[in-house]
Amino acid sequence: MPRSQKIIAASKISASKKSKRRNIYNINSTEDPRTTPNIQTDKSLEAIGSLEENLWRRLSTYLEPKQINDIKRAYVFSSEQHKGQTRISGEPYIYHPLSAATILADMNMDSASISAAILHDIIEDTPINKDHIEKEFGYEVASLVDGVSKLENIDFSSRAEADADNLAKMLLAMVNDLRVILVKLADRLHNMRTLNVMSYDKKRRIARETLDIYVPIALRLGINEIRQELENLSFQSLFPIRYKVLKNAIKKRRRNRKELMAKTGATLLNCLQDSGIKIKVIGREKTVYSIYKKMRVKKLSFSEVFDVYGFRLIVNDIDACYRALGAVHNLYKPVPGKFKDYIAIPKANGYQSLHTVLFGLKGTPLELQIRTEDMDNIAATGVAAHWKYKTADNSPAHNHAREWLNNILEMQQSARNSFEFLENVKIDLFPDEVYVFTPAGDIMELPREATALDFAYAVHSDIGKNAIGVKIDKIHSPLSTALRNGQTVEVITSSVGKPSPAHLDFVVTAKARGSIKHYLKNLQDQQASDLGERLLDESLKRHSSSLKETSFEQVKPFLKSTKITCIEDLCKEVGLGNLMAPILAQRIVGAEQQSFKKPSTWPSWLLRRRRAKSLFIKGTEGMVVSFANCCHPIPGDPVVGVASAGHGLVVHRQACNNFSKLRKSPETTIDIEWADDINRDFSAKIRVITKSQRGSLAGIASTIANQGRNIAGVNIEENEGNYTSLTFLVDIPNRKALADVIKAIRTLSNIHKVVRAIG
Ligand code: MN
Repeated sequence: MPRSQKIIAASKISASKKSKRRNIYNINSTEDPRTTPNIQTDKSLEAIGSLEENLWRRLSTYLEPKQINDIKRAYVFSSEQHKGQTRISGEPYIYHPLSAATILADMNMDSASISAAILHDIIEDTPINKDHIEKEFGYEVASLVDGVSKLENIDFSSRAEADADNLAKMLLAMVNDLRVILVKLADRLHNMRTLNVMSYDKKRRIARETLDIYVPIALRLGINEIRQELENLSFQSLFPIRYKVLKNAIKKRRRNRKELMAKTGATLLNCLQDSGIKIKVIGREKTVYSIYKKMRVKKLSFSEVFDVYGFRLIVNDIDACYRALGAVHNLYKPVPGKFKDYIAIPKANGYQSLHTVLFGLKGTPLELQIRTEDMDNIAATGVAAHWKYKTADNSPAHNHAREWLNNILEMQQSARNSFEFLENVKIDLFPDEVYVFTPAGDIMELPREATALDFAYAVHSDIGKNAIGVKIDKIHSPLSTALRNGQTVEVITSSVGKPSPAHLDFVVTAKARGSIKHYLKNLQDQQASDLGERLLDESLKRHSSSLKETSFEQVKPFLKSTKITCIEDLCKEVGLGNLMAPILAQRIVGAEQQSFKKPSTWPSWLLRRRRAKSLFIKGTEGMVVSFANCCHPIPGDPVVGVASAGHGLVVHRQACNNFSKLRKSPETTIDIEWADDINRDFSAKIRVITKSQRGSLAGIASTIANQGRNIAGVNIEENEGNYTSLTFLVDIPNRKALADVIKAIRTLSNIHKVVRAIG
């Protein structure tokens, strides 16, 4: 209950001055000059009068006179204490607790709950404390009132902290006594019904809290009538325009609908009575919110949702439920796959009913719920039905509630503070989903833990693919941000946005995950396969063969330890670097050439290598062939290829020190030769030892340049004594050109030594 909804009089009649007057509306607010005058009109007093009468009448239908007397005593006490206080709307304050009590009376709640509802704001808004209430009305009532009262005299560092602590307190009180939440829901429901007097911001905040906390709690406990009304009222406050549009649409259609409803209802009633079933047929109309929710979540048009006719058939016993089902299925054709038996298998919150959908008059869908009176009460009030019927401590609804409350207690014990506790309760309340909004106001339902990127994919897979960021409630946020209920999410897309493997680390929805994986796999497969095909074909061409001329059968013998079953897979593996194209080509062609007379004492790989023609390397093959940085081979050097997965074929000079180490695993080495027509430069290192003298570096550099060669790098080491070691990394096409450069440097003065550096 928002405090500001009350105007609390500055002075109160002291608690000890107990009035026995029953008609509290005779109390004139003008007795207290500080109370806003002229707000307690005759009209509001009249309203209280009829509300009061209605309550006593309602209570007399199910409570003992003694219990009613207890409630009346609480009422007199509460009226006295709230005397002089008014609500923002102008009514005397007592109107509010009286209304809350009426809501509970309509659910046939027990006298303690109703007394507590009447007294629920006493602790917060009057000088009376819990002990005082206990003395007057007993421990039970006092505990309930205390449970719904906010914490007092505590300095909260923020409003959020206060809200969290108060909510935590209420939840724990609820664990001890479920009736606390029923009193609280009645309080909240009346506040929501009278929310219009509040400011826009306050309205929205209260409505949001109602949807986030109270609606799911009511749902969890099966208190559906209150839940639906709370949802509808919250929706109206949060989205007044949407509410109005839908409301008008409903109004417009209602007349047509009415006739068809009446006709259908009468037909159902006749049919069932003819079958000898005692029955009550109740037409149902969906709430604005439930229509809205269905439209959004199931992506249906207004007509698709609204033009469904709902009826509830109330019968005497379970047997009659099934007989009624048979009768209506005989009357109208059932829609296949829509029948649900929640009698045999009740829902978790204890809900029981038969559901079926029929093709009704003019083919319009007809939704039927068939159940007994008891089941109907549980469907409407859930755990509250427990107090009505006293059936039970082990009714499904009650057991389920108990289980949940125990959970809450555990959560409280393991949480470090109220925020954490509440967060866990909220997660528990929406175990499966989080509801967020598109900028256009469409509701999107996502699993809990879903991130902004999941949202993007949920909107459309193309939006997910091109998403580069999001705005959550207008604030720029990363795609990995986890979403919370009620946030508005706007996806920022760009054509440069692409799915990445990193996205898989945080998306949770199957749709996003599948879409990203599919994209990556396609991309990878396609790229790898294209590359592999090209590499393999080129390698084979060097053996005067080609991929076209090669059958999978020829390759098969070399793939025994792999799962490759076709040429496409083979190309993919080559493209991914798991298989080396030159080696494969050499083996394929080699195997062809020496398929006869194979000395069995020689290992087969050696045979193939010996017999195989050497490969030529083309300088353009940067993607698979690379040149070792240790020995810098250039055309004309005797070379050898070393295959390594992920690095392709690395070309070393046969004279390289590193290669002599690699020689130990000969399976990875391959004979290669330089091609004849190479049109590119390679790197070679030239080491020059020169007398340390100014200008020597410049002299050598210009000599190299004059030979038409580019210097890619220089390393200078001052040796001890008079000598300097200069190492030039020179771009050079072949050995002949390198020899020319070395020769030219040697002609310079003061040069001690010029060599090609190895390793
Ligand atoms: Mn209240």
